[in-house]
Amino acid sequence: MYPGDAEFGFELLVCRWAETSWPPGSTRESAVVVSRQLGTKRRRWDTVVLECDPDGLAARRQFGERELDSDLLHVVRHAPAEWEWYRNALPHPGYPWRYVRAAVHRAADRGVVEKRRQGNRIEIRRIAPYPDWLRRIVAIENKPDLDASAARALAGQLEHDVEAALADEVWVATEATGSRIEPALLEDLPVDVGIVTLSFDADAGAVVPIENDSVGTVEWYPSEVTPPDASGDEERRRRRLELAERAYGRGWRSYHETMRPDCRHFELRRFGRALVPHCAANGRSQTAAECAGSCPEFEPEPPAWRSRGWPIEGGPGKGIKRLLRRRRERVRERETVRD
Ligand code: SF4
Repeated sequence: MYPGDAEFGFELLVCRWAETSWPPGSTRESAVVVSRQLGTKRRRWDTVVLECDPDGLAARRQFGERELDSDLLHVVRHAPAEWEWYRNALPHPGYPWRYVRAAVHRAADRGVVEKRRQGNRIEIRRIAPYPDWLRRIVAIENKPDLDASAARALAGQLEHDVEAALADEVWVATEATGSRIEPALLEDLPVDVGIVTLSFDADAGAVVPIENDSVGTVEWYPSEVTPPDASGDEERRRRRLELAERAYGRGWRSYHETMRPDCRHFELRRFGRALVPHCAANGRSQTAAECAGSCPEFEPEPPAWRSRGWPIEGGPGKGIKRLLRRRRERVRERETVRD
């Protein structure tokens, strides 16, 4: 059982499991970045796992912790080693150069390229080569109760994921039922999609190791859906990098910015190795959608909680944010710092 009955709680535990145990059933050889609710205009995935080259990911840090959007990526990826007029250095973007010039200024303001003016020309130089840090993208759809109707609703989306092949692998994560044959295996899901079942212990409030210290059991391995000509497909590479950059900047599972830790009812509960939000007013784990300023039970922290350092500097809301931010930084450090 997972906290509350909200899929959101399940999703957070899947993310935590992926951070500690990815890839299921084998040894980790890549650094891992886990992000939530990310995708393209057409499709948003519940959990995205980036498998990254460890040295490449460490080198990516030179460009800061924020994401590089598509315009910045265009500049940073093609910035030359020596000073050059930006129009000579960068490939034609397919849109007017004035937008590239604006991106060059933005990139320089962020310190991710250098720029100088020579006469009426703007020249650029890279601060470092943009590293080849992304190896694979894995998309995971979380469905704790994967019954026949949920499987039917999901099948079309998963087929689209397999055909679009933006990710290299597609999985469904569902809650283990303990049956000899997990029901998820009997549902009508695309055969290329992997199935992993996760088991949680409600009494202990802990994630139960099932197999080789792993909390996930692979019921069905996915096929790799990477197209055979992927290495020469620059457009696919560009789209994947944009997605990976979003995961890098916004990822690491952060939810403190989209929920209301400043509400007096907001609590964090430990669930195994994860910290999940809990709403004292509702007596259960709340969803991200519920936990907003529009929530009818929302009550700001009393001002006294924030004054005179009681009992936590800045009040519990700020304390929770600090705690989540620290955990996020710790995971980032673990995956990106190389000796
Ligand atoms: S009362 Fe509403 S805003 Fe406050 S913690 Fe609960 S769900 Fe979030």
